[in-house]
Amino acid sequence: MDGPSVRTFEARALPKISFTSWGTCERYFRPGPVVKSAHNGTMESIGPLEQSLHTARALVLADLAANEVAAADVVSLVEDSVVQRRWWVEQWPEGAEFVAGLVAQDVQDALLERYGRWPLCPVCGSGDPHALDVEPELGPDPHWVCHKAGVKVAAVGSLGTTAGGTSSS
Ligand SMILES: [Zn+2]
Repeated sequence: MDGPSVRTFEARALPKISFTSWGTCERYFRPGPVVKSAHNGTMESIGPLEQSLHTARALVLADLAANEVAAADVVSLVEDSVVQRRWWVEQWPEGAEFVAGLVAQDVQDALLERYGRWPLCPVCGSGDPHALDVEPELGPDPHWVCHKAGVKVAAVGSLGTTAGGTSSS
């Protein structure tokens, strides 16, 4: 006769897992492509959402490396953002292509608190050093722009290819 009460107790005893820690665990327990879909011939090994997160992470790390600020603690800022945006994009899968711009802005904000402005504008040679902004803030194909000069500087992930030039490619 004590079956139901036991079940209730067990349900209550389940550990509460936050989205953040769950995402972290998932990251460590799934180091590579999962072959669960191999039998039906599709290439859904990591899925479009996970792919967008991988891409965002790679793009922002590339921009950090271009500015030689890809230290270990800075990389962890990127990881923190990716974990949060994984939760975000799972709630709103249509936003997958916005993730790169969002991660770039997350990291920019985190760096501003700890280190200062990033990335510094490579276009304006004189005047106060200022940071570039991501445009669109919430949209696909994000770019770094200088509002002072009114120019697109580079796509997110391509800061390393600008080398301070002003080419309008
Ligand atoms: Zn500028």
